This record gives sequence, C-alpha cells and structure tokens, in this order.
Amino acid sequence: EAAINRIAAGEVVERPASAVKELVENALDAGATRIEVTIADGGKGLIRVRDDGWGIPEAALPLALSRHATSKIDGSDLLNIHTFGFRGEALPSLGAVGRLRITSRVAGQAAAEIAVSGGRMEDVRPAALSSGTVVELRDLFFATPARLKFLRTDRAEGQAVTDVMKRLAMASPYVGFTLRDVTGGGEGRVVFRADPESGDMFDALHGRLAAIIGRDFADNALRIDAEREGLHMIGYAALPTYSRGAAVSQFLFVNGRPVRDKLLTGALRAAYMDVLSRDRHPAAALFIDCDPMLVDVNVHPAKSEVRFRDPGIARGLIVSGLRHALAEAGH
Ligand code: ADP
Ligand code: MG
Repeated sequence: EAAINRIAAGEVVERPASAVKELVENALDAGATRIEVTIADGGKGLIRVRDDGWGIPEAALPLALSRHATSKIDGSDLLNIHTFGFRGEALPSLGAVGRLRITSRVAGQAAAEIAVSGGRMEDVRPAALSSGTVVELRDLFFATPARLKFLRTDRAEGQAVTDVMKRLAMASPYVGFTLRDVTGGGEGRVVFRADPESGDMFDALHGRLAAIIGRDFADNALRIDAEREGLHMIGYAALPTYSRGAAVSQFLFVNGRPVRDKLLTGALRAAYMDVLSRDRHPAAALFIDCDPMLVDVNVHPAKSEVRFRDPGIARGLIVSGLRHALAEAGH
C-alpha cells in the first residue's frame, strides 16, 4: 500500500510547485478568502499553506489522507467538475513522499491534527488553531530519493512556486494571497502579496493584474470580452505599444485553471500578427469559460494542457476577440 502510494504520488506531485498548486486549490475549494503560503529551500524543505476556509472535521482527517477519498464528488458526475479537486489523490500522495501535517478547525469544534510521514499515518491529536486549515509539508521526496535527484536548484524550484502562485492568484482576484520565503529562518521575506480585490469581475481582475504583472501593464491593456459558440473570454491584453523587453507575460486560463497550451498561445500571437513584430510576445491575461463538457481538463493530474472538443472555436475566439479589441483601439 505504501509503495503503491509512492509510485502514484509521482504522477500527482512532480516538484514543489505542483504540491503548492494542489494545496492552494484545496484551500480555494474550502472557500478560503485569505491564503498564506510559506516556503523554505525552494519548497523542498518546507511548504506551509494556511487558509481561513471551512476546515476539516476531526473525524474526517484520516479520510482526507486516504487514497481516493474526496468530499467533492460522488463519482456519478466525473465529466461535470466544478471544484479543483475531485480525485482525492493529493494529500495521500504528499503524505507518501514527504512529512505531512494537517491541522484544522471547523467552526464550533475543537482543532485537531494528523501527521503522515513516508506513508505512515499517526493518530489524530488535539491541536491549537483559531480557524481554517494549516497544511505543512516538510522534506518533500525524502521517501523517494530517486525523484529528489530530479529536482532543480532551490532557486529554480522557488521560481516555479512563485509562477504557480501568481497564476492561481490571478484566477481568484477576490481572494488574498501571500507568498513568504523563510529559507535560513526568521520572518523571511515576502515574495509577493496580493490583497483581496473588490468590485465587478473586470475591476477585480484589473487590480489583481496591477498587483501581479504591474500597474504599467494594467493601465496599458485592452479590456477583452468576447463570445463564440458557447465559449466566453474575458481579460486584458496589452496594447501593441506596451513593451516589456523579452519578458513573457502570457497567462491563460480555461474554466479557472491555469493552462499552458500551444494552440492558445499560437492564437494569441496570430491576433497580433499585423501590429507586433514577430519576436515579441503580447502580454495578456485571458480567461476562457465554457461548459465543462466542451473541454477536457482530465488529461493528467499534474499537467496543465487542455483539450477542446473543437479547437478551431477556441482559436477563432482568441483571434477575433483580440483583433476586434485592437481595431476598436485604433490598431
Ligand atoms: P481532492 O481535493 O481531490 O478531494 P485531496 O487529497 O486534495 O483530494 O484532499 C482530500 C480531502 O481533504 C478533500 O476532499 C477535502 O475534503 C479535504 N481537504 C483538503 N484540504 C483542505 C482544506 N485546506 N480545507 C478543507 N478541507 C480540505
Ligand atoms: Mg485536492
């Protein structure tokens, strides 16, 4: 059982950034409004995610660490998935390859904690916590040295954690995010911080993009709002006059999930073909939403590719939506 968990874990968790992604998505699924992530040594030594969500009942703590136990789906509706989690794999996987401790408190109940290390689960114990959940993961991959060897430098892994956090923060602008690096001990330093935004979706996104990409981007971006055959796209895309050297700032989301997809980035480039030189990447943050039935995000638990039932519609939406906005702005 422990060995199976360790093998399966490699599918879900490839590196510290994928662990951060799973834990932050759990916090979002729990209705958190503030999420604080603390890392050390690029996330290899420590990842701690604290949220103010609704918590895990004491009796459910051992279940949360059991394979394929999820509170989010009853199995009848796998194609129609609205929460991030649905496999019940992340926590057992992390507990199989690292030292995991979950402390949680549901309103009106006492706080409790459970620990699992290299797949060995301890008993639930009383704990001290005012509210929400704290998940602490130490020594990722200590139980699988072969995988540990594949990790890059602390600096590179830390950068990947920052990238993942920024994408997650962009997709949830009403939620506050903080990423802190405590390598070497003490208070550490705040890597980035985005306070909860308010207002309508465009206002909130504008504020969040200013916090994450930069005020100069947000203030020099076209507002995008387009629709095509059941696909809806909103977001902001840079004016052709906005230049940020070689820095690539392209953020694409499908149904709230960050994706990296050649089809979508190719469409983005095509939209700017006449107004931007070939070697420049247009900065943009675009959110495509559609019926979950029209898109497959169930390709691989750790990967961020998407498969549209009809890729031509997605491409057309991006090209025509952006060209329309560019033309309206006189480009
Ligand atoms: P999944 O997210 O696919 O359900 P996970 O292994 O990530 O599986 O989590 C298992 C279960 O633990 C979740 O279904 C949820 O009930 C609970 N859980 C995990 N993290 C949190 C959290 N931060 N707040 C509340 N509940 C959580
Ligand atoms: Mg999950």
